[in-house]
Amino acid sequence: MNAPNAAGWRPEMGEGHIAHDETFTGNRALMLEERLIFEIGDTSTTGVDIDPAPAAPSRLGGLARAEAIGLPGLSEPETVRHYTRLSRQNYGIDLGFFPLGSCTMKHNPRLNEAVARMKGFKDVHPLQPQETVQGALAVINELAVWLIKLTGMYGVAMTPKAGAHGELCGVLAIKAALEARGENRTVFLVPESAHGTNPATAAFAGFTVENIPATPAGRVDLEALKARLGPDVAGVMITNPNTCGLFEPDMKAISDAVHAAGGYVYCDGANFNAIVGKVRPGDLGVDAMHINLHKTFSTPHGGGGPGSGPVVLSEALAPFGPIPYTARQADGSIHLIEEAEATTEHPQSFGRMTAFHGQMGMFTRALSYILSHGADGLKQVAEDAVLNANYILRSLDGVLDAPFGHSGPCMHEALFTDDGFAEGFSTLDVAKGLIDEGFHPMTVYFPLVVHGAMLVEPTETESKAALDQFIGALRSVAMRAKQGDPSLKTAPHFAPRRRLDETLAARKPVLAWRGDKGE
Ligand SMILES: *Cc1c(COP(=O)(O)O)cnc(C)c1O
Repeated sequence: MNAPNAAGWRPEMGEGHIAHDETFTGNRALMLEERLIFEIGDTSTTGVDIDPAPAAPSRLGGLARAEAIGLPGLSEPETVRHYTRLSRQNYGIDLGFFPLGSCTMKHNPRLNEAVARMKGFKDVHPLQPQETVQGALAVINELAVWLIKLTGMYGVAMTPKAGAHGELCGVLAIKAALEARGENRTVFLVPESAHGTNPATAAFAGFTVENIPATPAGRVDLEALKARLGPDVAGVMITNPNTCGLFEPDMKAISDAVHAAGGYVYCDGANFNAIVGKVRPGDLGVDAMHINLHKTFSTPHGGGGPGSGPVVLSEALAPFGPIPYTARQADGSIHLIEEAEATTEHPQSFGRMTAFHGQMGMFTRALSYILSHGADGLKQVAEDAVLNANYILRSLDGVLDAPFGHSGPCMHEALFTDDGFAEGFSTLDVAKGLIDEGFHPMTVYFPLVVHGAMLVEPTETESKAALDQFIGALRSVAMRAKQGDPSLKTAPHFAPRRRLDETLAARKPVLAWRGDKGE
C-alpha cells in the first residue's frame, strides 16, 4: 500500500496527482486506512492524565530500566479510533459468510451469550468452595452427560481446551492404557486424509507416525491399513468425516481390525457437526474422540473466543482419562474429583491437563445451544449442514472440478481442485478474487491429497439467499481463473492490503517495531 499518508501529510498536499485507484488519505470510502500505532503516536503524548508517581527507593537491585520504554502514546479519542479502525478491517462470522472448510464457522446464537453472562456463571471463581458453585458444576456435568449420550461413549474428559489439546488427551490416555498392559507399542497409523493436527499429536506424544494411503474415492485404504497392523501399532487416528468432506464408511471394519490387533482407535471428531444426532461414534468402535464445542456446538472461536475440546472415551480408556472431572454424589450434589480423591477414585488417570476444570464459558454456551436445539434440532443441524454443502457442490458442477463428486454426495463440506484453470492461474487467485467479492476465502491447499484444494464449509446457519450469492461470486471468480483474466492475478483490488508475501512473513516474521526500517 503506497498510501500518501504513510509519510504524514500537509494541508497543501493533495492537488490532483493521485492515481485512479488511490485517494489522498489512503482511505477507500468509509474503509479507513490505519497506520501502526508506532507510526501515529509518539512518546510525548498519553491518554492518561495522572501525575508521575513520587520517587521511591527502588527494590529492583540493578534491574531497573535506565531509559524510558519508548511506547507511543495517543489521546483517548485517538486511541479509540485507532483500535476501532483496525477492528473494521477484520472479518468475522457476524459480518458475513465465512466458508472456511474444516473450521465450522457457524452463527453463535445470542441466547448462548445471554446465558453465559448470567451472574451466577460469569462471576464465579475456580477457587471458590465447591458448595458455592454447584450450579456451574451442574452445567459441566449435564453437558458431559449430553456429550456421552450423543456419541454413545462411556466417559468424557471435559478439561481439554481445544481440538488439538483433546487429541493429546486421547493419545495420552491410550499411552497410559498401553503402559498399564505392559506393552511397548510405538507406531500410530494416520491416513492421508487426516487433519494435520493428528500426526502432530501422535509425534508430540512420542509415537512414530506412519501414513496410510487413500483410495481413489478419497477414503482410508482398508486393506493397506489391515496389512500394516501388528504388535508395534498403538492405534490409528482417523478423521471422520474426513478432510475431503467424506464419511469413512469402513469405520466399523477399521475399528474391529485395529482392536483385533491390540490397538486403539482415535477418531478426530472435529467434524461432528456433519453427523451429530445421526451417528454415534461409540457404535463404530471408537475409543477416544474429541469434540470441538467451538465448531459443532457453536461457541465462538478464532478471534472471538477460546476453544474447548472435550474428549469422549470408551470403557477401555475411561479409567486413564485426566482429572479433574465431575461426579454426582448420593445426596444429589456435584463434586469435582481432584488429585486428593483421584488416588482412590481414579487411580489409573494419566494426570492433569489444565489448571482448573476447562473452559467454563464455552460449557455454558454449548449446553445452552444443545438445550435450545433439543435432540431433534441437533439432528436437523447435521442434515442442514450436509444439505447446504451438497447444494454448493452441485451448483458448481461444470465450473469447478470436484475430485470426489463422482462418488456421491459429500458431508458438511465441498472439495474442489484447480483442474481446468488457465495456464498460470491458481487456487490462490480464486481465494484473493473472493476477497474482492466480500467473502472470507474458503480453506485453500488443504487437504493435501488433491491438487490446489478449495474446501468450502457453509454450515447449516446460512440461508439459501446467502449460499446463492456466494455461489454466484465463486462461479464468477472461477470463470475468470479458467479464462485467464489478468486482473485476477493482482486481486484483491478493494481490500486495505493487496497480496502480502506470506512465505516471507511466516519464515522471517518481524515481531518488534524497530523504527521505519522494520529490521
Ligand atoms: C479444527 C480441527 C482440529 C483442531 O482443532 P483446534 O480447536 O483448532 O485445536 C482438528 N481436526 C479437525 C478435523 C479440525 O477440523
